Amino acid sequence: MVVEVEGFYGVYMLYCTNPKYKGRIYIGFTVNPERRIQQHNGGKHKGGAWKTSGRGPWDMVLIVHGFPNDIAALRFEWAWQHPHVSRRLTHVPRKTKKQSSFDFHLMVLYHMLRVAPWNRLPLTLRWLRQEYHRELPPLLQPPLHMPLAFGQVRARPIAKKGKGQGEEKTEQQPFPQRCRVCYEMVQSEDDALHCFHPSCSLTTHIICLAKLFLLNQPQQLIPVEGLCPSCGNSVLWGDLIRHKKGCYGDLEEVSNSQAHWVDELHS
Ligand SMILES: [Zn+2]
Ligand SMILES: [Zn+2]
Repeated sequence: MVVEVEGFYGVYMLYCTNPKYKGRIYIGFTVNPERRIQQHNGGKHKGGAWKTSGRGPWDMVLIVHGFPNDIAALRFEWAWQHPHVSRRLTHVPRKTKKQSSFDFHLMVLYHMLRVAPWNRLPLTLRWLRQEYHRELPPLLQPPLHMPLAFGQVRARPIAKKGKGQGEEKTEQQPFPQRCRVCYEMVQSEDDALHCFHPSCSLTTHIICLAKLFLLNQPQQLIPVEGLCPSCGNSVLWGDLIRHKKGCYGDLEEVSNSQAHWVDELHS
């Protein structure tokens, strides 16, 4: 079964099954995992990275997804590739001789999911290929809000709202609307947050809901989750933000030149 995800930003790990290079690992970023693995296995002329071309076939073993945007995912990718350079991962032990590259990068990933800023994102750790699956070490469990998932995932193009096409769009109330938290007016869609539960009509200021969700953890800046003040369902902050961005997002793959640019930014 393939799960479809809108506004997809993922960071994945490839495992080389070519006997000549067996066990090599590659970490990359994608907005479309299905297309990306084809590119890697198609070589450079198909858009694969030079490090992977001619060394395939590669298996896409797992992917971490749920990043709010491409920059957040690219930063995650960079830190996973350079754990000993990232100042957030100074506690991660170095690779031992008897440790495989696969086990080492898996351990780095488990550490990453537990530290800021990544431990506050609504991430999913997804094993794409069952045969590679390892149990998480008890001492390196990810935060409770991060699900462990299995099976393929597909990036679904974000449906553009409005623009003529029929009566598809849900009836939008005109602004200003009253904020459900502070009861002041929300002046425009830019400042508004809505709940994604179908029957819920929640409208709040973004900042009001953030403050509400952070009431019992005032030392934090970004909420992780909370109860919707209208429908009472538990909602992840990252999902609310992605829902808000849904109509503006676009699913173009970041080109290699841009990936390099982010690399340079961090080095
Ligand atoms: Zn408000
Ligand atoms: Zn709601």
